[in-house]
Amino acid sequence: MQPESDSRGVDSLMMIALRWVVTLLLVSVAVGPLDVSAQLAVLDEPWLSPQSCDAIRDPIRIEPLDEVTFVLRESPCVDREAPFLFLLIGTERALLVDSGTQDGVFLAEVVGQKLAETSLGFADLTVAHTHSHLDHRSGDGTFADTGATVVGPTVEEVREFWNLEAWPEGVASLDLGDRLIEVLPIPGHNDNSIALFDHRTRVLLSGDSMIRGKINVTDLTAFRQSVARLSRFIDGVHPRVILGGHLERDNLSLGLAPATVEELAVLSERVSFVRPFARGDHFTVVYLRPVLVAIGGGFLLLIGGLLRGLVVAVKRRRS
Ligand SMILES: [Zn+2]
Repeated sequence: MQPESDSRGVDSLMMIALRWVVTLLLVSVAVGPLDVSAQLAVLDEPWLSPQSCDAIRDPIRIEPLDEVTFVLRESPCVDREAPFLFLLIGTERALLVDSGTQDGVFLAEVVGQKLAETSLGFADLTVAHTHSHLDHRSGDGTFADTGATVVGPTVEEVREFWNLEAWPEGVASLDLGDRLIEVLPIPGHNDNSIALFDHRTRVLLSGDSMIRGKINVTDLTAFRQSVARLSRFIDGVHPRVILGGHLERDNLSLGLAPATVEELAVLSERVSFVRPFARGDHFTVVYLRPVLVAIGGGFLLLIGGLLRGLVVAVKRRRS
């Protein structure tokens, strides 16, 4: 009898252990590879405003999302654009997304300190950009003598580095070591804009193509197609949150819910050459070409009026 009782005890212990394993598996599937929700809440806090510059010393504020994921924001006291940069560290490589507005040494120091906490160095670092506007890549020179790989600013250089032969179609991937990054071309704000999806945190980095606030569009056809591709991509990967490159409306969260891409799609269809502005709950899409044409036309009319007045005045003086 005793041995039978022992075997039943062992069986029930095994069942309990099995239930634990199944429960843990189900929880991990439900939560995803890593839950950074609590850390993302930090981004809901107000960031620095230019009015608070007197109290500001550090040119960059750093918020860790986890021990190998860092959100870096340039101080608005250094530059009004105050862009966000992102440092993603894997077991074999690290990726800095955007380099900001400054060609100073402090960015390399900050990134170097974070790399030093791992087994990686600058030789393992790639500096890439969400797009080539200067407020996102002026810090590239900081890494010139470090041994880091810096992706160039032209469409050809971006396409070649990411091996996106069918640009703007296709999705590229980069394995940082236990950390897969996927890259989707989304031209329209800029001709070489990309979005980057980090599978570890399930954060999607959208640059200036999808930020809370004003989104300038230079190529409307390309932008509409990019938003449609981005929407399909989001449906496939289910990001936890979308983080843009700036915070344009004070005291609002940097993070955007994935579903807001549908609002962006509606607004991008609403703007046109005759109606260049469309405002929604999260975004204001501005089609720059007609705005620039109107400004240029107004400037020419002003110059023409001044010249005409000058000619009339000279004629009157002579007569
Ligand atoms: Zn931009």
